[in-house]
Amino acid sequence: MRRFQHYIDGEFSDGEASYPSIDPASGAVWAEMPEAREGDVDLAVNAADRALYEGPWPKMTATQRGKLLYRLADLVAANAQVLAELETRDTGKIIRETSAQIAYVAEYYRYYAGISDKIEGAYLPIDKPDMDVWLRREPIGVVAMVVPWNSQLFLSAVKIGPALAAGCTMVVKASEDGPAPLLEFARLVHEAGFPAGVVNIITGFGASCGAALGRHPKVAHVAFTGGPETARHVVRNSAENLASTSLELGGKSPFIVFADADLESAANAQVAGIFAATGQSCVAGSRLIVERSVKDKFVALLREKAEAIRIGAPLDMATEVGPLATKRQQDHIGALVARSIESGARLVTGGSKIDGAGYYFPPTILDCDDVASPSLIEEFFGPVLSVVSFETEAEALRLANDTRYGLASGVFTQNLTRAHRLMKGIRAGIVWVNTYRAVSPIAPFGGFGLSGNGREGGMAAVLDYTRTKTIWLRTSDDPIPDPFVMR
Ligand code: NAD
Repeated sequence: MRRFQHYIDGEFSDGEASYPSIDPASGAVWAEMPEAREGDVDLAVNAADRALYEGPWPKMTATQRGKLLYRLADLVAANAQVLAELETRDTGKIIRETSAQIAYVAEYYRYYAGISDKIEGAYLPIDKPDMDVWLRREPIGVVAMVVPWNSQLFLSAVKIGPALAAGCTMVVKASEDGPAPLLEFARLVHEAGFPAGVVNIITGFGASCGAALGRHPKVAHVAFTGGPETARHVVRNSAENLASTSLELGGKSPFIVFADADLESAANAQVAGIFAATGQSCVAGSRLIVERSVKDKFVALLREKAEAIRIGAPLDMATEVGPLATKRQQDHIGALVARSIESGARLVTGGSKIDGAGYYFPPTILDCDDVASPSLIEEFFGPVLSVVSFETEAEALRLANDTRYGLASGVFTQNLTRAHRLMKGIRAGIVWVNTYRAVSPIAPFGGFGLSGNGREGGMAAVLDYTRTKTIWLRTSDDPIPDPFVMR
């Protein structure tokens, strides 16, 4: 059985405790994970704090930081297959997806490597004579990074990359579910040559490890990805030190299809948008809002494609949908589908877990037209699509915005002016028009409302990891006059 370790202060160590990790494809234990509690968290945060103020890190130039990030990017690219296999093994995310995603993770590190020495301050044209005033951009401090189980290498890269570019130090908490790839990634951080304590990677449970990290007095900023309920705990804990937070949360994203769309193309995008990653994707296009005149045709097309999907072992390159990451997730999805059907939703395909070993759930479509279904409101975080239909563009927009989330959205139409109106009207952080699920290190990513408030990707993400310092310099050699003598 494989044993993984924490990476704290430049060294690999066992945790205060350990726990078994389950292979979701079989339901059997395959590895032993270290478990950080308050003591390990304290060690890691103190290491990050020392590295920030005392180590070689703050003396390095931004260009040197960038070179280390380039080296890390190359190492991720060279080890992408090993990391992909670990992620697949520990989370059940299929190898086709993990291989492609992790190869692309290297591009995120490369992008932030290039930005490292382009973070500029400012010279202010101040309204006083004999005074020079500058704004310096400095690292915000020690950052706590907390990620969920799905795509841990990707979700941590969008935090680690910009934070390192900004000169921060950090403690990354991998999810207790499927932490293997992130713990293994620590070996690449080490090999790249980052000074001890700059990047610390641990794992543990939310209530003990995550909470202790979020409220640690030496943490200046918490970058969190996960569910809205956990985010509320994170915000409450961060209030203790008035640490800032950036939150990337869940979604119930609308996927709008007009009758004039290329239906075959839209159907392929919808299938990928909801069934890729077995639906365990924050941007899953989980609410199909389709024009009534093409609803039956479009849903029939989706059903045909959904039923043709190859469900199988995640390490098999031919598999298109693998298991869910945990039994908890399988139970949650099964219960929410059952509740939705009780509320009047009609089952088009799928519907209940696949019996046997592993946490499998088939691609599922629920027709929720004219019913108040919980499946239109609550996040499944699984392979379940809920369908409603509309007659007018105004109705489509109203349905799209009828959610407390606001992460992503898709619009399929050939009508350019309509596409422009919807781009402006949809309340979500991302609008994809005639495409879905495209991401890039260059494009900011994040949501509104219950989907959070952070932006990851792009230059803006780097600025979130900086704070400004205003410097006043008097340039006159004249003595400062006595302030109490009236002139
Ligand atoms: P979760 O909120 O249960 O857990 C996320 C992380 O928070 C885990 O590492 C967990 O250990 C930790 N945690 C739990 N309690 C904590 C506490 N009190 N303090 C600090 N940390 C704590 O989420 P999950 O179920 O693992 O992941 C699924 C959720 O993540 C979904 O809602 C999904 O939409 C969301 N997600 C969002 C994005 C995005 O970029 N917007 C990406 C992926 C997933």
